[in-house]
Amino acid sequence: MNQVWRPYCQMKTAPPPMKVVATDGCHLIGENGERWIDGMASWWSACHGYNHPHVRAAVTEQLARMPHVMFGGITHEPAERLADRLAQSAPGDLNHVFFSDSGSVAVEVAMKMAIGHWRRHNRPGRTRFLAFHNAYHGDTTGAMSLCDPQRSMHARYSDAITKQFHVALPRDEATSRELDRVLAEHSDLIAGVFVEPLVQGAGGMRFHDIETLRRIRDACQRHETLLIADEIATGFYRTGEMFAVDHTTEAGQRVVPDILCLGKALTAGTMSMAVTIARTDVFDSFYDDDPGAALMHGPTFMANPLACSAANASLDLFDEMSYDVGRLESILKDRLCVLRDVDNVVDVRCFGAIGVIQFRDPPDMQRVQDELVQRGVWLRPFGDCLYTTPSLCIDDDSLHQICDAMIESVHTTLPMNHQLR
Ligand SMILES: *Cc1c(COP(=O)(O)O)cnc(C)c1O
Repeated sequence: MNQVWRPYCQMKTAPPPMKVVATDGCHLIGENGERWIDGMASWWSACHGYNHPHVRAAVTEQLARMPHVMFGGITHEPAERLADRLAQSAPGDLNHVFFSDSGSVAVEVAMKMAIGHWRRHNRPGRTRFLAFHNAYHGDTTGAMSLCDPQRSMHARYSDAITKQFHVALPRDEATSRELDRVLAEHSDLIAGVFVEPLVQGAGGMRFHDIETLRRIRDACQRHETLLIADEIATGFYRTGEMFAVDHTTEAGQRVVPDILCLGKALTAGTMSMAVTIARTDVFDSFYDDDPGAALMHGPTFMANPLACSAANASLDLFDEMSYDVGRLESILKDRLCVLRDVDNVVDVRCFGAIGVIQFRDPPDMQRVQDELVQRGVWLRPFGDCLYTTPSLCIDDDSLHQICDAMIESVHTTLPMNHQLR
């Protein structure tokens, strides 16, 4: 096991990882047959739970037919069909689907699209981006530069990566003015604004409202820059709508980003794949007689047919049934709110199938995790948050079990001076 260099892990001090030999529904299964409810859905991805028979059948069939083929100069039905369905589902004229192999790469592609777009519009100086405090957009160097330079886990690389612009989310007058000011002052530099709509993920599990998202959209329009929605975490009904930007539909004006990034749940947690979807205006900037004007990008495993077939199968499932994400949200709210009374808890917040407990003074998170595992629940706390993002198909009993485990493990690991208020 020592040959494996594990993610986000101090190899010297971290205890050995939990060994899993199989998955089943919403469960991880250990070597000795132990079963843990996966409250993380493997980092938001296993939206239909594991080993769904429909997804498995699609991938198995595709494996026998054609596991992979290069996408340069070649196309195949699983990719064509998936692109078509994603374009149908995405708002407005977000119709041009570029495949890549992970969310971070989808973000890099979005950056290249935006830079190329402005080059075409005679603004070649627009090579930088604006993102928000507590943003998280991925682990590759371009995507890292978009993450909050102080608060993110990439802070120690901040000297080595491109400096971008970071401001507070425009939640009020003052922050809206600051966003406007920076966009105006650097309008010769800023190619686009990256936002995780409504839910900021790995930068702190923070939520914002539809009005804030509208202000961002309006500011992008005022300053004629691109709005890039990173829905790698929020896509595919995590917040109750297919995409988080769809929450703006009911309230009238729909926010249609210029570029949309999707990943994580795209293949229902089966395979690594992501997409960057562009509006026609962005696509047209690369549509030219000059071969040099093309979008120069193409990962080796782009549009992998196995991943495309998993994604198509996942969309079939979403077409066939609708998950009651509102019910998951109300269970999480009803159950986790008791932790508001704990002195050391600064916030309990739930939105869609996301439940977050934020601490003032985080307890020993390793102990919290051990307590959870003992109670048959897998969660991975990080920073000052303990959170759950379960599979959307989770049954009520299992969700209650996750909540029980969260509540009990918080109480068990509280230092003596942090008792109930
Ligand atoms: C996970 C995530 C990414 C990065 O995706 P990877 O597939 O891990 O590279 C980017 N943005 C957001 C919002 C994410 O949650």
